[in-house]
Amino acid sequence: MIEQRRILTTAIPGPKSQELQQRKLASVSTGVSTGLPIYVEAGAGGILRDVDGNQLIDFGSGIAVTTVGNGNQRVIDAVSKQIADFTHTCFMVTPYEEYVQVCEELDKRTPGDHEKRSALFNSGAEAVENAVKVARHFTGKDGIVAFDHAYHGRTNLTLAMTAKNMPYKHKFGPFASELYRVPMAYPYRWPGGPEHCEAEAFNYITDQIHAQIGEENTAAVIIEPIQGEGGFIVPPPGFLPALAQWCRDKGILFIADEVQSGFCRSGDWFAVDHEQVVPDIVVTAKGIAGGMPLSGITGRADIMDTIHPGGLGGTYGGNPVACAAALASIETMEEDDLCGRAKAIEAILYERLGRIAEKYEQVGEVRGRGAMIAMELVTDRESKEPAAALTGAINKACHERGLVTLTCGTLGNVFRFLPPLTIGDDLLHEGMDILEEAFSVAAG
Ligand SMILES: *Cc1c(COP(=O)(O)O)cnc(C)c1O
Repeated sequence: MIEQRRILTTAIPGPKSQELQQRKLASVSTGVSTGLPIYVEAGAGGILRDVDGNQLIDFGSGIAVTTVGNGNQRVIDAVSKQIADFTHTCFMVTPYEEYVQVCEELDKRTPGDHEKRSALFNSGAEAVENAVKVARHFTGKDGIVAFDHAYHGRTNLTLAMTAKNMPYKHKFGPFASELYRVPMAYPYRWPGGPEHCEAEAFNYITDQIHAQIGEENTAAVIIEPIQGEGGFIVPPPGFLPALAQWCRDKGILFIADEVQSGFCRSGDWFAVDHEQVVPDIVVTAKGIAGGMPLSGITGRADIMDTIHPGGLGGTYGGNPVACAAALASIETMEEDDLCGRAKAIEAILYERLGRIAEKYEQVGEVRGRGAMIAMELVTDRESKEPAAALTGAINKACHERGLVTLTCGTLGNVFRFLPPLTIGDDLLHEGMDILEEAFSVAAG
């Protein structure tokens, strides 16, 4: 286990990382860019160690994936054992228990106590695609509704659902058809003001679906209960329950994309749990398997079991090593109460970010839940002009000081915090000290 301490031995990135970056430029497509090009050699808990011996504090978890932390002993043991036992058979050819166990866990832990069934895949985008396939097959309808600021992946179908042009969609079309976009209930930027956001957004969205698509042509509404890449946008209380109920009344499936917000990240097993919303289908990935590639869809049994045998699957979906990692990760979340830990992290981050917000006018809003917290930066609170350059400058200053941070937002002006839930309080505070310093350097 790497000592849980930040250590800077060179400038960031150090000489060995720079050398590797040169090799990267000569061998890897420019399309695959690197946010912070320190080359990682080892990681554990809240620390990443690079090839130059620097130890950086991790506030990104590889984009909300290493929820249980790198170097998690349960995951190491489970994966090691599984690799020794066997690494692949293809579940569709000769099945194995681990796949069934992960589906049992998903069926049990996703919202609602109704009968459920699951299917496993490799990536978030692949799972989203399969949720769309299932919804269309079950309803016999084509229309899929997604939101402004949505991110659902980078495959052709999921790009049609993703809202942001640069860098995701730019010149990669044409995109799949029968995908419709409606405004997101985004309180901070709702034209009528945050207090009217819930009712106005609900009315606007349902009117638009009625008028422009027709409920009888709409298979599903898919939403991230807390939007991820789009800027950690949390819809106002009441919005998700109202929308889910409206969908139920109209025979439209309500799909929650919990790829980023699921598995304790938001302080509950799933972000929809905060308002007791029960989706028809839940999409999971990222934090589910301690860094191994695994995703899933879990839905009402009557929906999932209408699909003909062989209709869902894939060579690697629910790989046994990834399943073993998922079972160890879920056990860690349960045994170590990582949902509780996410709430404790939320309290620390809100307290520290609140202090920064008192000092700097550029903090427009601090929002989010659990260990999924962000601040939206603006030039000033009156105009709410997005401050993307400042966001980038603070990010860079954090990187130089050995803190791995991420930005997000359709307008590039949101600073997000996604630490592993196993990070210690001392590293959280140290990271926040660095952020304060980065703020004073970049914002003056
Ligand atoms: C990351 C993400 C995806 C896509 O997952 P990949 O594993 O990168 O394909 C889909 N939906 C949400 C909400 C995500 O955050």
